Amino acid sequence: MEAHIAIFPSPGMGHLIPLTGLAHRLLHLLHRRVFITFIIPTTAGSSIKPQNDILNAMPENVSSIFLPPVDLNDLPQDAAMETRILLTVTRSLPALRQTLVELTRDSTKRPSTLVVDIFGPPSFEIAKEFDISAYIFSTVSAMTLVTIFHVPLLDQMYAYEYRDLTEPLRFPGCVPIPRTDAPESLIGKKNKAQKEKVEMFKMYNLPKGILVNSSVELEPGAFKAMEEGEWCKPDVFPVGPLIRTGSEQQTHDGFECLKWLDKHPVGSVLFVSFGSGGTLSQKQLNELAFGLEQSGQRFLWVIKCPNEKANAGYFSAENHVDPFTILPDGFLDRVKDHGLVVSTWAPQVEILGHGSTGGFLTHCGWNSILESIVNGVVMIAWPLFADQKMNAVNLTDSLGVGCRVKVGENGLVARDEIEKCIRSLMEGEDGRKMRVKMEQLKEGVAMALSQDGSSTTSLLDMAKKLDF
Ligand code: UDP
Repeated sequence: MEAHIAIFPSPGMGHLIPLTGLAHRLLHLLHRRVFITFIIPTTAGSSIKPQNDILNAMPENVSSIFLPPVDLNDLPQDAAMETRILLTVTRSLPALRQTLVELTRDSTKRPSTLVVDIFGPPSFEIAKEFDISAYIFSTVSAMTLVTIFHVPLLDQMYAYEYRDLTEPLRFPGCVPIPRTDAPESLIGKKNKAQKEKVEMFKMYNLPKGILVNSSVELEPGAFKAMEEGEWCKPDVFPVGPLIRTGSEQQTHDGFECLKWLDKHPVGSVLFVSFGSGGTLSQKQLNELAFGLEQSGQRFLWVIKCPNEKANAGYFSAENHVDPFTILPDGFLDRVKDHGLVVSTWAPQVEILGHGSTGGFLTHCGWNSILESIVNGVVMIAWPLFADQKMNAVNLTDSLGVGCRVKVGENGLVARDEIEKCIRSLMEGEDGRKMRVKMEQLKEGVAMALSQDGSSTTSLLDMAKKLDF
């Protein structure tokens, strides 16, 4: 007998990619006695090509259904990214229901389990209608998950906005979070969008279980807190780090990046990328270019079209920009012997796994951090939005395998600061110490994923509860 799992990811490559990692892992551990259907919500006007490339490379037990695009044109231009994601999910619910009606017509295709990511809980009602067990797969860290569980509690406790507090925020099992690093969902204004988030976070106590893309080796305190805290009702399964296994076809540029890395010494190249959607302003982009140049280090930089909004690329992971038009005059020529700039979707996992890569300047998306740890690459944290600042705190204060750029009073990270951080990571004593720590973490997560490792055992425990 096979189990059939439906996976309903919310928009964003940072959600889809780890869910495909989960699918691969389940297929592997259950010896393929499982069928998986990805049911993908889409928004009008954004391309589905990046998702398609990833899904097309999945094994045959995995199929995908793209739901009809929802229209978000009624939203104000400045609507928060989370609002857009959540609305895409809620407006796709009728289509999700219809898809489940069709799947359940054939008893062999009836899903017994629905897995959603952090924005998926509004679909639990539908799962209930179809008598399907619901799980959350947390694409965020265990530390972020602990804070999410506390949002409804804080909302009740504080009549005023939590943002007025000056003390660092303290949560069980987690390092203190400076107020300036707390995400909007924690300290957001008490407005309609925040209310909707609070309502959704209350639903975190409804699913049968929560799978977390992390491991007890990485975040022991946060997992213990969730096990012991009365505020966390579902069973929590640390199952990670699950990262993309990198089997889809390489683009020409992706292939070129890896060939370029082959030419450089072991551990000598700094990889620079702000994830699937992170963008810098033109001024900040110039500072980064000069900082990289001043550092004299080898680098591979994934560049995106400049934008004043830090998450401008989120809904369109596709990236077409001519670096010549946006980089300082003569930059590409001056760095041509030791720097490569690419403007397309880069094979990040392969780059981080390449022996020449010795550091990663990252926006601190949780997947990027995990991919770096799995490959033992130390990091410079340059967080932009959402949970990224909190992840940067986790990275520097808890995991101890990254340093963080300082933002100047003008809101920019200056070229000298960038140069200093890069030199310190790539050739300084701090970088050396972090590499020692990173080796331990890398070994720890490899153990977690080994045959009897903590994350393997935990996912198998969850799998035992699947209805076959
Ligand atoms: N990614 C990639 N190539 C790119 C940009 C991003 O493969 O050019 C992948 C990256 O490896 C990671 C995901 O996209 O798996 C980004 O997720 P993350 O949580 O790091 O950040 P987000 O994009 O969600 O902000």
